[in-house]
Amino acid sequence: MTFSELGLLPELLAAVNDLGYTEPTPIQAQAIPRILAGKDLLGAAQTGTGKTAGFTLPLLQRLAPHANTSASPARHPVRALVLAPTRELVLQVYESVRQYGKHLPLRAAAIYGGVDIKPQIEELRRGVEIVVATPGRLLDHLEQKTIQLNQVEFLVFDEADRMLDMGFMPDIRRIMERLPQQRQTVLFSATFSPEIKKLAQQLLRDPETIEV
Ligand code: AMP
Repeated sequence: MTFSELGLLPELLAAVNDLGYTEPTPIQAQAIPRILAGKDLLGAAQTGTGKTAGFTLPLLQRLAPHANTSASPARHPVRALVLAPTRELVLQVYESVRQYGKHLPLRAAAIYGGVDIKPQIEELRRGVEIVVATPGRLLDHLEQKTIQLNQVEFLVFDEADRMLDMGFMPDIRRIMERLPQQRQTVLFSATFSPEIKKLAQQLLRDPETIEV
């Protein structure tokens, strides 16, 4: 199996090649075609399996057809949201988005707490298509109306079990109220506890399940 057999755009194949990846990991081989086909996905995966590229590459490809290079923020609504439990994970996913997306005209922001909110507000004001965020700080931005999520097409939960363990469920519920119903949703979790299954049932539509 090669990355090009997965149906990825030349811009993404070039980025993967730049990083020296020779073949997709098992989770990538399973997740990428399903996400590209527009399916909701429930994935069981630990870190180190390559799950980040497994959702980031197809996310970028789903957004790419309507990417635009206009400088106007109004032309750059947030179209993809990735939620992750910690600042470290947000930064890691953000870095992956930047690396895999470096040949595509898409902009991303990393949003997390414990730091001054003002530079994040500035960044959001300039317009970004992709937001990688922890739930608490994202909610602060929603409440201050410094972000709008009503045009999100693609939603990812990374390490959903840790988000629940950390008590983010009430924040997640409030964030969900601001998202369109019509969207593609992907949820990754290290474990499939009853709580995760319930969350998936509420948030995913007719999902495919993969376990590696
Ligand atoms: P993750 O499980 O997403 O945290 O990824 C673990 C590590 O594997 C990261 O450092 C990636 O850069 C690397 N990686 C992801 N996909 C591949 C691949 N197909 N081939 C080689 N390394 C990869």
